Amino acid sequence: MELLNIKELDLKKKKVFIRCDFNVPMDEFGNISDDRRIRSAIATINYCLDQDCAIILASHLGRPKGEANEKYSLTSVARRLHHLLKREVVLANDVVGLDAMAKVKALKCCEILLLENLRYESGETENSKELCEKLASMADVYINDAFGVSHRAHASVEGITHFFDEKSMAAGFLLEREIRFFGKLIDAPVRPFAAIVGGSKVSGKLEALVNLLPKVDKVFIGGGMAFTFLKQMGYDIGASLVEDDLLEEAQKIMDEAKKLGVKFYLPVDVIAADKFSEDAVIKIVTSQEIPDNWMGLDIGPATVRLYREGLADVQTVLWNGPMGVYEMDKFARGSSKIANFVADSYATTVVGGGDTADLVQRIGLDDEMSFISTGGGASLELLEGKILPGVVPLIKK
Ligand code: AMP
Repeated sequence: MELLNIKELDLKKKKVFIRCDFNVPMDEFGNISDDRRIRSAIATINYCLDQDCAIILASHLGRPKGEANEKYSLTSVARRLHHLLKREVVLANDVVGLDAMAKVKALKCCEILLLENLRYESGETENSKELCEKLASMADVYINDAFGVSHRAHASVEGITHFFDEKSMAAGFLLEREIRFFGKLIDAPVRPFAAIVGGSKVSGKLEALVNLLPKVDKVFIGGGMAFTFLKQMGYDIGASLVEDDLLEEAQKIMDEAKKLGVKFYLPVDVIAADKFSEDAVIKIVTSQEIPDNWMGLDIGPATVRLYREGLADVQTVLWNGPMGVYEMDKFARGSSKIANFVADSYATTVVGGGDTADLVQRIGLDDEMSFISTGGGASLELLEGKILPGVVPLIKK
């Protein structure tokens, strides 16, 4: 699959709309805690600047649900961009309102305008034609560099492409790199190929798990999602996170793994806590002995040892989702130990975006991984063999 290439576009003196993914994690003070996604967009922006064009950047941040909300403003993203690009970055007060339109009109060659959070407009997630039209009217050229959101048919990702022809749109460098990397990974992974899947819920990753099974040799489950499987196996899981409506699905996944000969690993012990809090009382218990009203918030030391054993001969690792509530030190140990082991291995290690990238970066192991994707959901959908809606229009015919 070859994508429309940014280098084949004539950008000189044009207005170029670049859809980026600046949906970065923020700490409790509103500071950007991991700017990987912003840094990853710099190559495309700099390339465009070198071609003498005016640049309109657009992104969403969080879920403001269709209305302006200062909490989700791109102000700190604009500041970080300014810092990284060493150039002025003007932030519009709105997305397609009077201010944005006036600023677009006044935009000159080599200047950079950042639109406010795209999701201030409800039409963004609804893929409204009206919004697509307004966004498209801003520019001569459209570039998608937002891998992390390319699995969504949103206005700035999919709908907008209907207003540009093959000579006036392309994939940015980041999008191209991610698609190429995962393409190779799906086509010919070096085996044994393991998926480590964690995070809060089975529901968010159910389809991905089902679709990954035929492709991998081993699956290691961690995080809150493990308890739905453990409950289905008949264990008392106390007050741990569980999705009762998915117990049957969990059974189907385990049956399918067995049928396919995929080794399916579940935690054999957990760090149980009397409450969901940093100052909780904790104890290490086997998965069979979680006390009533206690909740498992991390994998335990025996599970870490077991997973290490299982991962020892693996040649390719895909990791998506933390092993525990890594945001609290008390429950970060399992994720940290697995991260260290994976980083030290000689396997190709792929970290699938979002929380897992954040956790690997917090531990300082990001440079040790082979590839850290900027899109958790998007990378899972690619591995499921799907072609992402934001990528379809950019495929060379
Ligand atoms: P997800 O967005 O589904 O990848 O989930 C990531 C979140 O899962 C993180 O914020 C973790 O704190 C949370 N998480 C991981 N393990 C558990 C657990 N055992 N119980 C509750 N939440 C968890």
